[in-house]
Amino acid sequence: MTIQTRFAPSPTGYLHVGNIRTALFNYLIARKNGGKFLLRIDDTDLERSSQLFEDSIKKDLEWLGIEWDSTEKQSLRFDRYHEVLNKLKSDERLYPCFETTNELELRRKKLLNMGKPPVYDRSALNLSDEMKEKFRSEGKEPYWRFLLQQHKVQWNDQIIGNISVDLASVSDPVFVKEDGQFLYTIASVCDDIDFGITHVIRGSDHVTNTATQIQLLETMKSTIPTYGHHSLLTGLTGNNLSKRFGSLALRDLRFSGVEPMAIVSMLSALGSSKAIRIFHSFEEIYDNFELSSFSSAPTKFDPDLLHNISTKVLHSISLPTIKDDLKEIGIPENKFIPFWEMARDSITKRQDIMEIWNLCKNGPSVVELNEDTPYVKIAFELLPVPPHDEKTWKIWTDKVSEATGRKGKALFKPLRQALTGKNVGPDMSKLMPLLQKIPSL
Ligand code: GLU
Repeated sequence: MTIQTRFAPSPTGYLHVGNIRTALFNYLIARKNGGKFLLRIDDTDLERSSQLFEDSIKKDLEWLGIEWDSTEKQSLRFDRYHEVLNKLKSDERLYPCFETTNELELRRKKLLNMGKPPVYDRSALNLSDEMKEKFRSEGKEPYWRFLLQQHKVQWNDQIIGNISVDLASVSDPVFVKEDGQFLYTIASVCDDIDFGITHVIRGSDHVTNTATQIQLLETMKSTIPTYGHHSLLTGLTGNNLSKRFGSLALRDLRFSGVEPMAIVSMLSALGSSKAIRIFHSFEEIYDNFELSSFSSAPTKFDPDLLHNISTKVLHSISLPTIKDDLKEIGIPENKFIPFWEMARDSITKRQDIMEIWNLCKNGPSVVELNEDTPYVKIAFELLPVPPHDEKTWKIWTDKVSEATGRKGKALFKPLRQALTGKNVGPDMSKLMPLLQKIPSL
């Protein structure tokens, strides 16, 4: 059996780290098993869905290196959903309802106040044909609910383990809204059947949906996929992360210079019994990735940890991998090795590479010496004649120390400041041979 997974975002917003966790799990399961990975755009809500978000979802996935084998769009499949809908109607598993949102909300509150679960009371089942006719003649369109069989649904969840949901405590799900919009439950099931989805990995907020979807799949006499529900990400104090997701949108992480493989490395292990390791390719992850190693308890997400991992990823990037970036910035090929050796450990994001190369080419833009100016002037007179190599810094600073009596920080710091405009930065021995411009004081 070929494994077929899917990632099914709604194009109603930007992807955040929580969404990417789902995409990544599905992608890894497919690739690890030589299977296929489908990108399904869940755009049945035509009003809230947009091309802009669909494009940005694709861009984010591409940036992370998550490649999909095919794409489907729910908005192109309404005919198929209608077909299934009609069958369910003729089997009397769908029933029309006419309550307004306000009415439903009042009923919900009342049940909650009485300490009862806010389950839809199925009162629409009692509507006589005359009542339904009356509503319709008043211009009211029904919305449609799926009549659940109120028994327990069980499955062996790849993350949670054996689980059972009693559908007696679940409202009959709405399949179509009064304006004709299909809802996720039915659309998703039709798609999972038609696209041969074998594994559905998604957030634990979908557990109840899974129970209703399994029943629908059974009604449609279809194979039931394997399900896995991963925990949801929380902030460090266990708070819901959803409000912070704005700042954890993939596009923002991308702009802020986070390495894509840092996100992949972190999310492929966070919340599992395995330690987070730095990976530079997906191939390194497959063998180690096991859904069963993930805990079903909420998973804390620490943005600072992501930034640390990102720096580590960057520091361990090999020259062949970073070559194109160096080339694009205009660094000559014969300088790739010494430049990357010098720059890698002092950068925290790729954008810093450009800054260090600018320094090599043009010298510092601002130098703050103040009372150290006379000292630096003396030191510059002692600077060996170019070309400089890795020994130059030591030879020079020894000479300067001898001439001025300065040692340690007082000796080195003003010289670093004069040459780079900064008090911290790359190893000066490695930087000296690459500096093409010594500032004049
Ligand atoms: N569009 C749904 C969501 O974003 C898909 C859930 C699923 O994986 O079935 O929540």
